[in-house]
Amino acid sequence: MPGVPAEIGPGLYWIRMPLALALNHVNLWLIEDGQGLTIIDTGMDTPATREAWTTLLDGRFAGVMVRRVMATHLHPDHVGLARWLCDRCRAPLAMTLGEYLSARLIQGRMAPADRDSIRSFYARHGGSRRELEALESRAQFYVETVPGLPLTIERLEAGQHIRMGGTWEVRVGGGHSPEHAAFWSPERRVFIGGDLLLPRISSNISVFTLEPEGDPLAAYLKTLGQLGDLPDEVLVLPSHGRPFRGARARIEELLAHHGERLERLLEALSGVSKTAADLIPVLFDRKLDRHEIGFAFGETLAHLNRLWLGGLIEREVAPDRIRFHAVVTRPDERRRLAQQALEAPRATGC
Ligand SMILES: [Zn+2]
Repeated sequence: MPGVPAEIGPGLYWIRMPLALALNHVNLWLIEDGQGLTIIDTGMDTPATREAWTTLLDGRFAGVMVRRVMATHLHPDHVGLARWLCDRCRAPLAMTLGEYLSARLIQGRMAPADRDSIRSFYARHGGSRRELEALESRAQFYVETVPGLPLTIERLEAGQHIRMGGTWEVRVGGGHSPEHAAFWSPERRVFIGGDLLLPRISSNISVFTLEPEGDPLAAYLKTLGQLGDLPDEVLVLPSHGRPFRGARARIEELLAHHGERLERLLEALSGVSKTAADLIPVLFDRKLDRHEIGFAFGETLAHLNRLWLGGLIEREVAPDRIRFHAVVTRPDERRRLAQQALEAPRATGC
């Protein structure tokens, strides 16, 4: 039930908070030990989520000291209520520096997260007027759903060990967001994965204005390679969907998913030049709402940049447009090239 804690291990609670999006919930985690309570992720800033937290903190966890609020990454469903919760509980916020600074940049609408930078970036990639408006409103949505952050943090870094009902190692992954934190407890056999490893949907992997020539798909593939060391019986706690076991099998499915998307783009570009906007329907063959346009644009560009930076397609840069082009290929060649694009970042760790 939304907002009701389910104990899934000693002192480890799962809370499902509602989201007013196509994705209708986010999972948050609480760890209670002799020292107090650690909150992992906050939910989006909505009246329903504030009410659910108030019920929890005045009810089941009344009188329990909150030691810290940890945010896995900067997205509104994870960090939206950070300031409110930290103020209410007089607790510090723990986050990686990359996530925190990126959040502050978007919140402040500082270039390149400002209106003009967003419009010119996506216009060069062929965005239509409707798409440009949707993309711009996404940054504004962030300001509204993450209304503030504490002014200081406790920094999370890869390899740190944190004591909270046992010892947890901080893992940091890329691709979905700059420095996404996750928590692995070898003794409890539990991995709190945030959005790095989801059971049913694939995490959004997007290029943004800050790194127009970035390769977030390579960063994500490298992260999946690193998560391949999780034993299969480990319980993975994802931010969306239900807890699951079988991390390695899920990683293989995600690799196949991205490989298939790379193949589709190679086919669509076979012997022709197209912009990223032209190619969105190749990966998303349904009508997209304003939110989904942003995810779809960023994801299409992420796959194109992986192919381009992997040396498998060409990029033609004109003052007003950026287009991509591939040589004519047969299906078996496309499969081989897609595999090459998937494997290089995992093998070299680039
Ligand atoms: Zn996310």
